[in-house]
Amino acid sequence: MSDDYQNTVDQYLHRAKVLYVEDEAVIRDSIARFLRRRIKDLLLASNGEEGLEIYKKENPDIVVTDIMMPIMDGIEMSREIKSINEDTPIIITSAFNDEEYFLKSIEIGVAKYIKKPVNNSDLLNVLAKVARAVSQQKEIESKNEFIKTILDNNPTFIMITDIDEIYFLNASFLRFLGFDTFDEFIGKANSINRFMVVKEDSFYKGKSFNVWIKEAINTEKTDCIVFMAGKDQLKSEARAYIIHANAIPELQEHKRYLITFTDISHIECDMKMFQDMAVKDALTGIFNRKKFGDELSKEIERCLRYNNFLSLIIFDIDHFKSVNDTYGHQTGDYVLQEITKLVSENVRKYDIFARYGGEEFVILTPETSLSGAKELAEKLREIVQDHEFADVGKVTCSFGVSEYVKHEDPAGFIKKADYALYIAKNKGRNRVKAVEKEHSFFFNLPY
Ligand code: GH3
Ligand code: MG
Ligand code: MG
Repeated sequence: MSDDYQNTVDQYLHRAKVLYVEDEAVIRDSIARFLRRRIKDLLLASNGEEGLEIYKKENPDIVVTDIMMPIMDGIEMSREIKSINEDTPIIITSAFNDEEYFLKSIEIGVAKYIKKPVNNSDLLNVLAKVARAVSQQKEIESKNEFIKTILDNNPTFIMITDIDEIYFLNASFLRFLGFDTFDEFIGKANSINRFMVVKEDSFYKGKSFNVWIKEAINTEKTDCIVFMAGKDQLKSEARAYIIHANAIPELQEHKRYLITFTDISHIECDMKMFQDMAVKDALTGIFNRKKFGDELSKEIERCLRYNNFLSLIIFDIDHFKSVNDTYGHQTGDYVLQEITKLVSENVRKYDIFARYGGEEFVILTPETSLSGAKELAEKLREIVQDHEFADVGKVTCSFGVSEYVKHEDPAGFIKKADYALYIAKNKGRNRVKAVEKEHSFFFNLPY
């Protein structure tokens, strides 16, 4: 044994708290005298019951015990100790060569068995080995505790998973989901899927946890975003979290990943605002002309692919200039907003309603023929005409309607509705006019 090794062993022994239980005073005193030279914290008991009392009070690292003792024997005491803390190493000393005791002690999970009469240096060797294991275990536990404290105190949600199972959620994540402990989470939920809010383009839509988390881990993309609503949060209150995955250096034979969920709701919110600004009209909140153009191209494509109807209504407020002139620009703005509201409430979900410019609006109506669109225009005309506008009273609009014909240029399609609107204005306003399909030809002539 090298000096270094001896020093290390001495250190482990010196740090360990050992309980020694032996009913025979002569043996107890002699071994205790020997052990005290190496072990600073040595506790003594003369039977199982006394040993158990001291164990409960002092929580020693290692227990050395005789078997045959009055009041409570060593096997019984060991069983009690193991039920308190099954990790406590127990070393049994016995003169018996009895198989029954061997089996019992194995069953209890006794660490070592030393034959009596006890050879002092044998006992010391065994104690040193056990003390070393105890010390290393303590070190691992304290490191784990340290890491756990760091993870738990991190406001970012942290998960450890091997894709199949979740092994850890930090305290802030558990709190968000409404669980006090990880065990409670495993027992009641075992997956975070039920807290996830699915959006139209969510990459995890309709996928089980194992499937989507694997995608999030393996993706090349940098923006894996999930929406989650925690305990007592409505779906509409869901926040956006960006996922980062890191493989944990392999401790076990199979890979585990540390997944972080960082709240980026404020960024998402800004992005949504910018996206909205790009496609929406500031005054009325409906689509702007540019967005309308994009949607028009898409709908034309769809109409050609599925051979559907597609119609267009353009309408313009009658004598709007005089509204502004009489009541002021602000009242004019209010009229624009009010008309937007009236129309929005009376078109279908799939109709595309946009502000085309000034006091001119467009409605693109997929799967609607010219006669259907004319009917809708007529209904809207009446709704506006019958509405009482605050301060202003009555306001009317003129409508132009057209239907898309195959392979027509989008500009031609709009030109037809615009022409019909021009006719409606000329014929006296507050009316609906349309360009019939068979006249489309005139609007698609090259200049
Ligand atoms: P018509 O029946 O021929 O359409 O007559 P009109 O007065 O409605 O048409 P005109 O094109 O002469 O005037 C349109 C007016 O709409 C002039 C313009 O100042 C006003 N306008 C355009 N955009 C806005 C807006 O955002 N707010 C307000 N208050 N007025 C607007
Ligand atoms: Mg007008
Ligand atoms: Mg106008």
